[in-house]
Amino acid sequence: MIKTTKKMPALFIGHGSPMNAIEDNKFTKVWEELAQRMPKPEAIIAISAHWYTDGTRITDDEQPKMVYDMYGFPEELYKVIYPSKGSPELAHMTMSLLNKEVIVDNSWGIDHGTWSVLRKMYPQADIPIFQLSIDRNADANTHFRIGQELSSLREKGVLIFGSGNVVHNLARVDWDMDGGYPWAVEFDNYIKENIINRQFENVIDYKNAGESSRLAFTTLEHFYPLLYVLGASNEEDKLTIYNDTWNMGSLSMTGYLFE
Ligand code: ZN
Repeated sequence: MIKTTKKMPALFIGHGSPMNAIEDNKFTKVWEELAQRMPKPEAIIAISAHWYTDGTRITDDEQPKMVYDMYGFPEELYKVIYPSKGSPELAHMTMSLLNKEVIVDNSWGIDHGTWSVLRKMYPQADIPIFQLSIDRNADANTHFRIGQELSSLREKGVLIFGSGNVVHNLARVDWDMDGGYPWAVEFDNYIKENIINRQFENVIDYKNAGESSRLAFTTLEHFYPLLYVLGASNEEDKLTIYNDTWNMGSLSMTGYLFE
């Protein structure tokens, strides 16, 4: 295979249920197709909803550990191994790009927000991955700004990979529901329209959506990865919206690709 350093995309994935890691369904099919059409990354920086910490942290392990941070799922899911390597070099470069203290923390590795999707996109696990955590004490503006500071990694062949869900309210999950609740659809559309119009300030100020923003999530960790991806995008990028659909009424699977 010929290796060239192409400018890599910034990609937001709505990861939904951890079961996607071991199922073949309409969401995972699209993830596989995305990987096929994108240039193959030299490395991936993953910003997952599931690493929500005090302060910003980064993994710089040669061989990051698997983190099985989900509970009550079938045994099979805890046997998934995704043996990708890390990238100490790129992790250190990332630290130098950020105007914020970043702590090296290899007590974490690759969590299910990352591996449940990447094992579908890159089943061979042959791309180095490192994770950057989401500082639970930082505001939306700060998360967006960190994304801007990460943007130059794209020129170094690094895929900016944000994994969360725009609407994520587990308290209101309805297993039998096909579409989304009206408030969920309203919030998802608000975000979508502002992304299409490149009005990212309205995404950062998501409360401008009104009542629907109060119901869209109870905590912010699944929303914030989107802000990193928007920050890392630029005006010339072509935008593709995919998996624009619902899971259990209160999980939006909508994804955004900037390339
Ligand atoms: Zn999740």
